Amino acid sequence: MKLFLFLFVAIIYGQIFFPIAFSATPSKFLYKASKIPIIKVMVGKNLKDVEIIGTDITRKNYLKKTLSNFDGRKKVYYSCSKYLGKESYRSESILLASLKSKTGLLSFDNKKYSGNLIVSLGPKEQRCDLINELSLEEYISLLLPKEMNGAWPVEALKAQAVAARTYALYKMGQRKSAASEDALFDLENSEKDQVNGTFFDLTPNALAAAKQTEGEILKTDDSEDITPIFFHAKCGGKTILPGQVWGNEVPGYVGVECKNCEKHADPYWTSKIEKIRMIKFFRWLIKQELIPEVDLSSMDKEQFMLAPDRYKNNSFRIYLGDSVFVLSKTWPRRYFGRVIFPSNNYYIKYDTEEFLITGRGNGHGVGMCQLGALDMAQKGMDYKKILAKYFPHHKLVKLY
Ligand SMILES: [Zn+2]
Repeated sequence: MKLFLFLFVAIIYGQIFFPIAFSATPSKFLYKASKIPIIKVMVGKNLKDVEIIGTDITRKNYLKKTLSNFDGRKKVYYSCSKYLGKESYRSESILLASLKSKTGLLSFDNKKYSGNLIVSLGPKEQRCDLINELSLEEYISLLLPKEMNGAWPVEALKAQAVAARTYALYKMGQRKSAASEDALFDLENSEKDQVNGTFFDLTPNALAAAKQTEGEILKTDDSEDITPIFFHAKCGGKTILPGQVWGNEVPGYVGVECKNCEKHADPYWTSKIEKIRMIKFFRWLIKQELIPEVDLSSMDKEQFMLAPDRYKNNSFRIYLGDSVFVLSKTWPRRYFGRVIFPSNNYYIKYDTEEFLITGRGNGHGVGMCQLGALDMAQKGMDYKKILAKYFPHHKLVKLY
């Protein structure tokens, strides 16, 4: 399957890919290395051991301060507990080794990575972390098939490329400004940050989208700093603000109406929460000091009332005994999780011992709605129009 995909990409992009497959360095071939930032992505965490395979590898060993060249195919293995020894006092991550191959590709865990792989030793555990160091533009092209869909129209992927590049540069800036020495990487390859693929995930549309937007990011009108750009799968009718979801304000965001995602994916979702679980949720809210201490026995005795709720409300109101609480709709999702609350766009009702939730959309609802972007691209709109819809107070800037 992997071979098939590779051949498919190679055939479609014959002119570009044949040199990659059969000669030297894909990264250098695809992108002019000098002006493009290098990003460090955490691709493996808490590993007991690390095995990296490649051809014509150069290895820099940070502990021994040596540089070694291995001709031909080589397997490099690290048993991470071995390095605890006298390093057991360490309080932060340290670099162990950096590997690169003349082919531009290294294999780890049956995946092929472009660029360099850096092995670091975690601070406390006898474990390693693995960091992939690659050109930001390669990172973006490998991310598009994972964070969106590599087969989607190029204009939708271009909007995603600009959004993801902005987020990545924001995280890179954060690491450089952080005093923390243990920040050996810029961001994680996980839902915590952004998910990127590896070499075989690349599609022609993803590659085209990254190249056609090279160096482009979104910036707010009135700030010199790069601020984070967020995106999600489907807003279900409206987008919301970062502050509503994570509590911290991010400049430039506005909530926008979106009908574009309406006809894509499931029209709505439903969930149920038993009253007893809702009481536990209230206990959590009190513990987190999100609401004042309140006697929850009124809820147990059915002496409470939920105000009529609608999609358009960003919070719901509940009367408990003598108290009334206005709760942000993002709190239940944070507590009950994404399976019960696929999105923050819903309305809630109470019916004999249980709460009934009907929702639309998928994801946190902040920033660009990906299915909305798909719809706009299918209707012939370009990525600038798509970005302007979801980020009307941001402007497109070409950094390099
Ligand atoms: Zn939408």
